[in-house]
Amino acid sequence: MFFKRKPMWGKKKKLKSSYDVVIIGGGLHSLATAYFLAKDHGITDVAVLEKNYIGFGGAGRNTAIVRANQRTQYNVPLYKEALDLWPILTKDLDYNLMFNNCGNLNLMHSEAAMTAARMTIATAQFHGVESHLIDAKQAKEMVPALNISEDITFPIHGAMFHPPGGVVRHDAVVWGLARGAAKRGVEIHQETEALGIGIQNGKVTSVTTSRGTINCKQVLISAGGYSASLIHGMLGIKLPISVLTIQAMVTQPVKPLLNHVVSSGAYHAYANQTLKGEIATGAHMDPWPNYTTLTTAHYIKHQAEALSEFLPCLRGLRFMRIWGGLADMTPDMAPIMDGNNQIEGFFMDCGWGYFGFKSCSAVGKYMSEFMAKNECPDILKPFALKRYEEHRLMGETAVVVNYTPDN
Ligand SMILES: Cc1cc2nc3c(=O)[nH]c(=O)nc-3n(C[C@H](O)[C@H](O)[C@H](O)COP(=O)(O)OP(=O)(O)OC[C@H]3O[C@@H](n4cnc5c(N)ncnc54)[C@H](O)[C@@H]3O)c2cc1C
Repeated sequence: MFFKRKPMWGKKKKLKSSYDVVIIGGGLHSLATAYFLAKDHGITDVAVLEKNYIGFGGAGRNTAIVRANQRTQYNVPLYKEALDLWPILTKDLDYNLMFNNCGNLNLMHSEAAMTAARMTIATAQFHGVESHLIDAKQAKEMVPALNISEDITFPIHGAMFHPPGGVVRHDAVVWGLARGAAKRGVEIHQETEALGIGIQNGKVTSVTTSRGTINCKQVLISAGGYSASLIHGMLGIKLPISVLTIQAMVTQPVKPLLNHVVSSGAYHAYANQTLKGEIATGAHMDPWPNYTTLTTAHYIKHQAEALSEFLPCLRGLRFMRIWGGLADMTPDMAPIMDGNNQIEGFFMDCGWGYFGFKSCSAVGKYMSEFMAKNECPDILKPFALKRYEEHRLMGETAVVVNYTPDN
C-alpha cells in the first residue's frame, strides 16, 4: 500500500514576495534561530532559505558530540546553556532528540597536558560545569577497552572527565527544530538559493533568490561553511574565516563496549559508540583550505592507526561509511555572531568550525533575541567581529592545540 507522507515541516509553500525576516541557510543555527524567533518573540513572518535540503550542511554530517567544557570564560556559559537546553527542547518540541549524556573523556598524554586540563577544569567548575581530572587507572575503570600501557606512542597519563556531555541525534535536531518552527508559522523553503542582498540607504531591503526577489527588513546569514563567501560576495565584508574539510566515519556495529565519548588530542582522534553499535569516529581537519567534501585514504589510515593504539580491541573492525563536511574556522576557534552598524537589519552567525552542533540550541535562543530587540545580548557580545580589530582573540585554540580536538 502506498502512503503519501507530507513533510514534517508542512507542505511546500509558494515563496511570498515579502517577509519580515529572511534566514539564509537551512542548518542548525538557522532553524534554531527561526524556532526561537517564533516561540520566544512571536516573530513568525520568517522564511528560511535552503539551497539544497535542510540538514545538507554540517547539520547532517557532524558526529553529534555535545559538551560544555570549553576553555574560556566567554565560551563556557554559552555551551553550558546549550547543553542544558537539550532536555528542555526535547520536551518543548515534543520530539525525541535522543540526548545521551554519557559523558566525555578527554585523554591526556603528558604532564603538561594534565596541567592545562586543570586550568580548563577550574574555568568549567567556576561556571558550574561538572568536569574532573582523573588518572589513567580511573580512566581504565570507566573505559575498560582503553590501553593504558606505557607501550604505545602516546601513553595515557589521565583524562578530563565531563559527565554531563555526550551525544544528541543530529538529524532529530534538524527535523525537530524545523517542525517546531513551521508549526509556529515559519516557512522553510528548500531548493531555494539566496543569491544577493539588496541594501538601500544603509538598510536591508531584499534578498534575491533562485526563485525570485523577496522584500524583507532583516536578514541573517548562517550558512555554515558557505557563510564567509556569501557575506563577502553579497556585502563585501571580509571575514577572518578559512574553510577546511573535516571527515568522519563509522565502523560496522559491535556489541556495547564504549559508554563514553573518548577523545585524544595527541592521537588526533575521538570515538563513541552509537545506539546501533557502530563506532563513530573523527579527527582533525584536512590541513588545506578547500570547499570539497571529498574523503581521503590518508584519513582512514590515520584513524585506524590511532584508534588501534588507544582502543586496541577495535583492531580488525571494518569502516562502513566515511563522509566529509566543511568547517568554517576562525583564528581563535570561536564564532562570529554580530550585526553590522553600517547595514541596518543585517546579522551574521558563522565561524563555528566543529563546534556548531553543540552550540546551536543556545545560539538560536540568543541570536533570535538579538534580532527581535535589535540589541546584542550580553552573552553574545564577546563574539563580535570587532574583536579581531581590537586584538581580543578568544584563546579557545589552546583547547584544541593542547589536547582536545574532539568535536
Ligand atoms: C564531519 C563533521 C563532524 C562534526 N562534528 C561535530 C560535533 O561532534 N559537534 C559539534 O558541535 N559540531 C560538529 N561539527 C560542526 C557542525 O556540524 C557545524 O559547526 C554546524 O553544522 C554548523 O551549523 P550551521 O547551521 O552554521 O551550518 P550548516 O549546518 O552547515 O548549514 C548551512 C546550510 O546553508 C546552506 N546554504 C549555503 N549557501 C546557501 C545559499 N546561498 N542559500 C541558501 N542556503 C545556503 C547549506 O546548503 C547548508 O544546508 C562537525 C562537522 C563535520 C563536517
